[in-house]
Amino acid sequence: MLHVALVLGTRPEAIKLAPLILALRAEPRRFRTTVVLSGQHADLVAPILAFFDIRADIDINLMQPNQSLASLTSRAVTELHRVLGELEPDWVVVQGDTTTAMACALAAFYLKIKVAHLEAGLRTNRIDSPFPEEINRRFISQIAALHWAPTAASARALRREAMPLPHARIVVTGNTVIDALLLGVARLRTAPVPDADRDRIAAFLAADQRHRFVLVTGHRRENFGEPLRQICRTLARLAAADQRALFLYPVHPNPNVRTTVDEMLGRVPNIVLTAPKNYPEFLQLLDLSHVIVTDSGGVQEEAPALGKVVLVTRDTTERPEGLKTGLVKLVGHQPTRLLAAVRSALVASRRARRAPKPAFPYGDGAAAARCVKSLLAKSP
Ligand code: UDP
Repeated sequence: MLHVALVLGTRPEAIKLAPLILALRAEPRRFRTTVVLSGQHADLVAPILAFFDIRADIDINLMQPNQSLASLTSRAVTELHRVLGELEPDWVVVQGDTTTAMACALAAFYLKIKVAHLEAGLRTNRIDSPFPEEINRRFISQIAALHWAPTAASARALRREAMPLPHARIVVTGNTVIDALLLGVARLRTAPVPDADRDRIAAFLAADQRHRFVLVTGHRRENFGEPLRQICRTLARLAAADQRALFLYPVHPNPNVRTTVDEMLGRVPNIVLTAPKNYPEFLQLLDLSHVIVTDSGGVQEEAPALGKVVLVTRDTTERPEGLKTGLVKLVGHQPTRLLAAVRSALVASRRARRAPKPAFPYGDGAAAARCVKSLLAKSP
């Protein structure tokens, strides 16, 4: 039996690891699974785990108010080294590019425990964008023995870099975010979860065929400060000029985001600011939306699978596959470009007879099964 420890703390880590945890736990004779919470977004993670019926085994609360990246990193390495040293798993699974995932890979390396990296090989090739994630994921790639690349392009990116582990394997799996999305949306379409915002949007859309719903998210560190202010200013202008569009922005709790957004958008009548949505509620909103304005990585992957238009408020993306579908556009935060992009997406949506066709550049919903299979293959 293989003992697999999975470490997670942020919302996207929980969403993307959930299908893998379920797949591992579905084979109790082959796997012992330990889920370790880093405690980073404890309140955002709990409902996701509840939605997927997952119980965590260990919670190491790493978070302290206003802690620097340096102090988070050092605490994370020390604590994860202690926990993994006690657990002695065969594999540690980390996801993506958070600072805790990077620290966990380092702790596992010190303990000579093999690391499997879910969603490996994403690159912008710019060291400062996204910051510090580009370095975090490159660092994890240096240590991992098993790289689960979501797409062929991410596998190519890994092959281009010298891998210090000679027996490391790269497996193209698709992204488990699509496993979670398809599982979640299918369940929610038959058994919706109650949400007053969703009811309000559904009523607004039912009132007039030309009414459109724009879903906004934004929390990236590189957009803090002036870029976020420019995005907010543009959204306020768009909303004032188009009363047949309703904007909803679930605002990330980070004070760098919340203070600016509340101050700049708090009094615009057709912009609804709301607390971050639990994952199932967010999926219901995605399903209702016509246009999405976001700097989120996960949302760029999910939205095309539901046939939604996504305008990305970043200068770079490590997810170029979505751009090729025509549904995802990189628009940055400069007001003129963002304004024109949202306007033309709304015009196109009102003109179109039917919603755009879904596209699946990030996976077919069976990524977790491929990960499990590769864990059982001869260990590197
Ligand atoms: N999400 C959510 N509630 C929200 C906004 C996003 O559950 O209010 C989900 C979304 O479905 C996606 C994930 O969170 O799967 C994206 O996480 P986030 O934007 O925090 O991080 P990123 O993907 O940029 O790393």
